[in-house]
Amino acid sequence: MNQQVKTRKSWLKLEGRKLVISGPCSAESEEQILETARALAQGGHVDYFRAGVWKPRTMPGSFEGIGKEALQWLKKAKEETGLKITVEVATPQHVYEAIKAGVDVLWIGARTTVNPFAVQDIADAVAGLDIPIFIKNPINPDIKLWMGAVERFKKAGITRIGLVHRGFSYLGETKYRNRPQWQIPIEMMVTYPDLPMICDPSHICGNRTMLHEVAQKAIDLNFDGVMLESHPNPDEAWSDAKQQVTPSRLNEILDQLVLRESRQDDELIQNNLELLRGEIDEIDADLLAILGKRMNVAKRIGHFKKERNITILQQARWEEIVQRFIELGLANGLSRSFAIKLITAIHDESINNQEKIFRSEE
Ligand code: PEP
Ligand code: MN
Repeated sequence: MNQQVKTRKSWLKLEGRKLVISGPCSAESEEQILETARALAQGGHVDYFRAGVWKPRTMPGSFEGIGKEALQWLKKAKEETGLKITVEVATPQHVYEAIKAGVDVLWIGARTTVNPFAVQDIADAVAGLDIPIFIKNPINPDIKLWMGAVERFKKAGITRIGLVHRGFSYLGETKYRNRPQWQIPIEMMVTYPDLPMICDPSHICGNRTMLHEVAQKAIDLNFDGVMLESHPNPDEAWSDAKQQVTPSRLNEILDQLVLRESRQDDELIQNNLELLRGEIDEIDADLLAILGKRMNVAKRIGHFKKERNITILQQARWEEIVQRFIELGLANGLSRSFAIKLITAIHDESINNQEKIFRSEE
């Protein structure tokens, strides 16, 4: 760790407002880039124009970006609109090309942050350049990888670093494309209070409907800004079509964001409270998923008993379950009476379900 290098939020010149980064997921054509940049600049909210020029795709054969040719379109957009430009870089060659084209900020994508070798290669490529870098969280919820990337860039002498929270992949059921797991960016904010934290609702949501809600939540958590994808014709986008919105819809979303007053001394309390509530919400989701799974097993038992003509209630088994529940509950800091109430409610529901199976014809 290099303690000498000082990073600071002020490089973004936020002064009480929020930073907005927007633009298409991918650069597709010069017209698309110019049309989007013009419309976004006109809206007056956007500070940085983003577009993916090299796209890290999970499967080969899908659109992998136009490549360096598109940097010229971005350069044109910058000259014409005055918006600063930012692109994702994943290799030292990308860094070289982007800087040559006058890109103002480089960003490190989620699929790169997971790989310390790749991050180090990029850090070596920017060493001594002092270009600003936004670092997206890694795809998996491993805060250490995110921190490691920050440290690698600090060590390379980069003083202007921003963090981008784009959510974390999750195999279970979730309404998000990438679960926000707010406690992770909050922990990053506490660890690096001098680094701006930007939320990317587009990649968290994976759809258009929840963008405002997630952006507002980030603002309420005192994030420093948002990154949102915008495309003149979202349905026809070559990548991430479902989550992109037109520049006019984007401006509407931004207009509707409420910036709340935040007293400095309340901030930590609020963040901690939100952190804990976020944890509760996630645990509740897990709890219900597990209960659903348990109920499915109970239904399978119902079918089994029906086929063999066995009674639903097996007294000895029930007593054994209650006893086990009480013991496990106590071991986990839960009272005896709560354990009994809980298992009784679960068991009642299992019996109801099994009864339904007994009554049904199949
Ligand atoms: C993107 O911003 O288009 C992108 C590829 O994002 P991420 O690295 O967060 O998946
Ligand atoms: Mn995208």
